[in-house]
Amino acid sequence: MNTTTTSTKLIRDALVLTMDPVLGDIPQGDVLVRGNRIEQVARNLPSPAGAEVIDGRGMILIPGLIDSHTHMWQVPLKGQGTGLWGTADYQKHVFPLREKFGAIDMKDACFAAGMEMMDNGITTVLDFCHNTMTPEHAEESIAAHRRTGQRVLFAYGMLGSHQTHKADHAWRLAQVRELAADLGSSAHDSLIRLGIAVASLEYSSMEMVRKEVEMGRELGLPMTFHQNPPGQIHALGEAGLLGADLLPVHANVATDAELDLLAACGAGISFTVEGEFGGGRSMSVVGRAHRAGVTPSLGVDVPSRITMDLFSQMRLTYNVMRAEEATAERIAGRWPLARHPGTPHIQPRHMLEYVTVNAARAVGRGDELGRIKPGYLADLVLLTPGHYGMSLGDPAAHVALMSTPADVHTVVVNGEVRKRAGELVDLKRAEAVEASRRVRERVLGAGKGSPAPAVAESVA
Ligand SMILES: [Zn+2]
Repeated sequence: MNTTTTSTKLIRDALVLTMDPVLGDIPQGDVLVRGNRIEQVARNLPSPAGAEVIDGRGMILIPGLIDSHTHMWQVPLKGQGTGLWGTADYQKHVFPLREKFGAIDMKDACFAAGMEMMDNGITTVLDFCHNTMTPEHAEESIAAHRRTGQRVLFAYGMLGSHQTHKADHAWRLAQVRELAADLGSSAHDSLIRLGIAVASLEYSSMEMVRKEVEMGRELGLPMTFHQNPPGQIHALGEAGLLGADLLPVHANVATDAELDLLAACGAGISFTVEGEFGGGRSMSVVGRAHRAGVTPSLGVDVPSRITMDLFSQMRLTYNVMRAEEATAERIAGRWPLARHPGTPHIQPRHMLEYVTVNAARAVGRGDELGRIKPGYLADLVLLTPGHYGMSLGDPAAHVALMSTPADVHTVVVNGEVRKRAGELVDLKRAEAVEASRRVRERVLGAGKGSPAPAVAESVA
């Protein structure tokens, strides 16, 4: 993928949802892109000589969607996790398969994942790669990301297999340093950046986690970790390790006091609504975090059973948050539901903020991603309103609650058109299907390439 461009593009007459508090929504707005940056956002912009004009009439232009937590290596296992019950089922039937993945499987899987995400309007993803079984696993994953041309924060997984986690720690730390030097030496606007998926405390130790976080801070790498058992945010705070650069995922059991700790250091959380459903976890954290000023962002999390689509995540998260608010009202005796100051707290537009502005912060790029604003990187998605037209009211609510991946018409990443009029420009969907098929054959065995094995069969 060519990551630098000097070409000029003018997207004309779209309903532009800038997600910027000053610029707001611009009906029949124009966006001028020069190279990989947005240069102007206004109405009736003149078309510079030689500019490619993209007709946005009748469509909605949004910032490219940003997923703050997905394990991309799991895409070929799609269907393997549906119908599982609780995290123990997942830990038994899906997660151990990672040890059967070779480096070549990581390459095929990340390629298939990136293509599908980009097709669905996800221009940036935090790839929480908790399958760096060998240095080659990381290298091949990065090679795949280079090929798809998606913007990726490659969060290098520090968690090894239970048997070898401690013994392998030194080479993983060393490889992070090497990769940081390697990726850091390329152009400033390089599509792939390095981060660290810090090992889960419950499978590691505070001493090892401290080494990871201190190295991440020394190298300036964004970090993230799975936060499942209670008390970990408090413990990390006591250890002086919390920060705006350390993103907790799930955090369902976080107390309000722990959310205050996160808010004080400017941290967000990644909420993965279908992941939370699958684990049977409490959902109140996302609303509590929002109220506490801990910015939520969203992620697909486990592609083994969740579609690679942030529209579903927005819709489900909104309904979960509204349901949580309604439950609190019922418990307080305020029934039937009625508006009163501060309630309802959550609006559909918040969901679009979660997957743009908030998620840009979550991946460490809040100052140049997630908004359609002069100077920001040109990651843009044009959506059709669907075959049956726009809904009434707030257009951001239309995107958050009515849009689907089928509405993704045009995708621009880093100033390059990657999808045009519903078709990927230089990638064929069949390539991704074939890449997943190869992984299934190698990992699950001959004859398993297609279709996906039924869960009932694998669980039995
Ligand atoms: Zn996860």
